[in-house]
Amino acid sequence: MIHPGTELRFISNEVGNGVFATTFIPKGTIVYIKDKLEIVIPPDDPRRNDPLYKDVIEKYSYTEPNGNFVLSWDIGRYVNHCCNCNIISTGYGFEIAIRDIQAGEEITDEYGLFNSGWEIDLVCTKPGCRKKLQPSDLDLNYEKWDAAIKSAFDYFEKVDQPLLKYMEPEIKDKLNRFLKEGRDYISVLELKIK
Ligand SMILES: [Zn+2]
Repeated sequence: MIHPGTELRFISNEVGNGVFATTFIPKGTIVYIKDKLEIVIPPDDPRRNDPLYKDVIEKYSYTEPNGNFVLSWDIGRYVNHCCNCNIISTGYGFEIAIRDIQAGEEITDEYGLFNSGWEIDLVCTKPGCRKKLQPSDLDLNYEKWDAAIKSAFDYFEKVDQPLLKYMEPEIKDKLNRFLKEGRDYISVLELKIK
C-alpha cells in the first residue's frame, strides 16, 4: 500500500505515469508497505510465462528474496525509478522516505533493490545516473543505501506514520530492536534473491 498522501499523474508518452506527493512527506516516513492485499506471484506460477501476463508482471512487480513477484494492487506499482530517489526499500518489508518530499514532488524509488535479474535501460537524466540497471547494483551500492536508511530511521518515531498500522507484529519487533536498542539492523543485502 502506498502512502495516502499520493496521487497518480501522467508524465509523458516516454515515461508513462508516475506517483506524486499531494502532501508534505517528511524524511523517515513509510511511503510503501507490503500489505495483505498485494498480489504475490510465486516462481512456479504459470502466469509468469503466459504471454498474456508476462510483460505486465515484469513491468510492474518487484521480486522478493524467495523469488516471489509482488504486484501492488494500488498506484504503488507506478512509482518510477530515479538514481537520486527519495524513497528506498528497507530490509523490513516497507519503503522509507530518505529525504523530505514536498507536495507536488514525484515519488521515486531505487529499482536496484527489486531483483530484476536483467538489465534495464534508464530514462532518468539525473547527475550520476547509472544509465542501466544491472543485477550487480545491489552488491555495489548496498552500503550507501543502508546509510541512507539508517539516517531516515533517526526520524522514524518523530513523524506521522499512516502506514504503520499495516506492519506485521514480528516486523515491528525486529524494527524496534534497531530503533530502540541500535542492534540487529537488517541490511538491504537481505533483499537479494536467494
Ligand atoms: Zn538514472
